[in-house]
Amino acid sequence: MTYRPLVATLTLFALGLAGCAPAPEDAPAAEPTPAEEAAPAPTVSVEEIADGVHRFAYNNHRSLFIVTDDGVLATDPQSTAAAERYLEEIRRITDAPIQYLVYSHHHGDHASGGAVFGDDVTVVSHENVVGHLDEPGMEDVRAPDETFADEMTLTIGDVDVELAHLGHSETDSNLILHVPSRRLAFVVDTYLVGELPWRNMASGDLDGWLAALQTIAEYDVDQIVPGHGDEVGTTEHARELIEYLETLKAAVAERMADGQSLEEIQASLTLPEYAGWVRYDEHFGLNIEGVHRELSEQAQ
Ligand SMILES: [Zn+2]
Repeated sequence: MTYRPLVATLTLFALGLAGCAPAPEDAPAAEPTPAEEAAPAPTVSVEEIADGVHRFAYNNHRSLFIVTDDGVLATDPQSTAAAERYLEEIRRITDAPIQYLVYSHHHGDHASGGAVFGDDVTVVSHENVVGHLDEPGMEDVRAPDETFADEMTLTIGDVDVELAHLGHSETDSNLILHVPSRRLAFVVDTYLVGELPWRNMASGDLDGWLAALQTIAEYDVDQIVPGHGDEVGTTEHARELIEYLETLKAAVAERMADGQSLEEIQASLTLPEYAGWVRYDEHFGLNIEGVHRELSEQAQ
């Protein structure tokens, strides 16, 4: 297969939605808000990042879809409104049937809206998604038809798509979607490119998250597509995120050992080397809270 670097069809409908951040992931009931659902002009783009592999961007959320002559594999419908647009964009490119819809993880701002894709599509996810279906924010999440525990390979046309569970990382249901023939992977929320983890990492397991990032860092790929942000990254960004989390963990642990309270740590700790990362100002204090929570639990 020929590998084509970053380029291609870019459709932008940017009408003043800059700064439209997604609702918090630790409160999935709130996302997307009715106001966001009703927003008249979402920012939408579709970009072919490798042969037949496209990235769909809807406001700040990203999904990947793979087009072959025989069928399409899509990921993360995001919401009913996003999925309607997503389907339209897929249909601009191909009439081939959509065979699979894969959830990157259970969070409602990524997994909602699957009903739009119709009854013929097979919804695939990690098995832990099922246990979250009755939680708030999951009302529009269609139940998976097929689940897996550790690994699963889906074949779409002549393309193999390997799914692997990443353990309990950002949540207990995250997977890595790997397309070996295109030398790329898609990882949502556990992996970010120059961006802080979301708020206080409420559904996360810090050590599991670090282990997952180690696994991601070892993939033999040229591109890793995250679920947020404009950049497509590489394994180097997994290593950077490991370094950030380990630096933060060590700094919080040291201050806890000195008897500082969470509030004292939040008031005094800064990591200026990460000040240029996306949402540092907004989320750094909350990241401290998340690490503090995990270390307190581990100490018990
Ligand atoms: Zn998430």
